[in-house]
Amino acid sequence: MQIPLRKIHESPGKFHLKEDGIECFGTFHRSGRYKVTIEGKLKGEADFVCDRCGNSFSASVDESFVLEAVDRPVKVEESLDMIECLDGVVDFDSVCRSEIASIESQYHLCPECEGEEDFEIEI
Ligand SMILES: [Zn+2]
Repeated sequence: MQIPLRKIHESPGKFHLKEDGIECFGTFHRSGRYKVTIEGKLKGEADFVCDRCGNSFSASVDESFVLEAVDRPVKVEESLDMIECLDGVVDFDSVCRSEIASIESQYHLCPECEGEEDFEIEI
């Protein structure tokens, strides 16, 4: 799903996509002249690789995110929560894919390893 940034208004619109078995949905609205805010959720099952034993396992994903899509180059220090849409188009498919990829790239332990470490980790 692609929407030209200039066609996004202050009244929120909705998006709902599915990538790799994960639903990605939420709202978007204009928050500045060259800026659109996207508030979304990821829900579903994803495959992860355990960082300790290397086994793959699936786990449920339930995350929310807030992103700003801007119609100008993004500085490196801003880039975490910003995406640049230099062609003036917000590509919701790639937003969802990159959010899923960032969850998959986080540190994950399979249920077995997680159980072992419960008493060692202080959060
Ligand atoms: Zn493991």
